[in-house]
Amino acid sequence: MKRTTVNIFMAEGYCVKCKAKKEIADGVEETMKNGRKAIKGKCPTCGTVMFKILGKSSSTPTSAPAAPTAPAAPTTPPPQV
Ligand SMILES: [Zn+2]
Repeated sequence: MKRTTVNIFMAEGYCVKCKAKKEIADGVEETMKNGRKAIKGKCPTCGTVMFKILGKSSSTPTSAPAAPTAPAAPTTPPPQV
């Protein structure tokens, strides 16, 4: 039996579209290549993908990185039998 565990996190992120702090919807914790953890989710208002990097606290988003080319997440789909 396989169970897909998806951790939902309620976190605040900065929406570059709304230009405001929003509660990240459907936030899931992801570990980046450098070992840092981040929360990836969506803006509850406009649906824009939001990304919050964990670890550093109290970071003021003076200039939100718009991420011109989003790196493809290394997703490894479970092998189908
Ligand atoms: Zn938004």
